[in-house]
Amino acid sequence: MRALLIEDEADLLASLARALREEGYAVDTATDGEEGLYKAEGADYDAILLDVMLPRLDGWEILQRLRQSKKTPVLMLTARDAARDRVRGLDTGADDYVIKPFDLEELLARLRALIRRSAGQTRNVIEIGGALLDTAARTVTLGGNPVALTAREYALLEFLALHRGETVTRATLYEHLFDEDDDSLSNLLDVHVSNLRKKLGPECIATRRGYGYCIP
Ligand code: CA
Repeated sequence: MRALLIEDEADLLASLARALREEGYAVDTATDGEEGLYKAEGADYDAILLDVMLPRLDGWEILQRLRQSKKTPVLMLTARDAARDRVRGLDTGADDYVIKPFDLEELLARLRALIRRSAGQTRNVIEIGGALLDTAARTVTLGGNPVALTAREYALLEFLALHRGETVTRATLYEHLFDEDDDSLSNLLDVHVSNLRKKLGPECIATRRGYGYCIP
């Protein structure tokens, strides 16, 4: 999953970006509203974390303009004593909000739920052949036994699982699994797929030659 974090407080931006990467997200960042809107409109993010008070363009303006062209799920980061902000955010098209200073675990849980809902998945656990993918715990089990996956392998499996039945193109996978600073070799995707097949069985991911991959 690839997230865009728009936040002008440098410390918060750095710590939140680090926490998101530890959770396996590819993370792009913006420190002012114009840069944030530019990035938000220019790529297909799985979610955007949007601060309200920002230089150049505030969070409202960004949300309003973004909603003219994109449905990307948006989690607003709002101030503690601004109840009206939250109502306004939801009216303008925000999908959820957390109040600063927020609890990191709660923010991560809300973000996962947001991404799941936008993919049309209401349940935490997705069954893939004999394997169970738990998007809340970020674990995979096969026949009841835990399967050790790297962060990239997990991210790839989760993205395909949330788009189950669709053929996901290689370009889409690159856009959603790697962030603006990643410089991975193009053949790595095949390596991750091959590793997942070794760990979960050859049938877990189908190759649609010339198009991409699919969890049938
Ligand atoms: Ca701010």
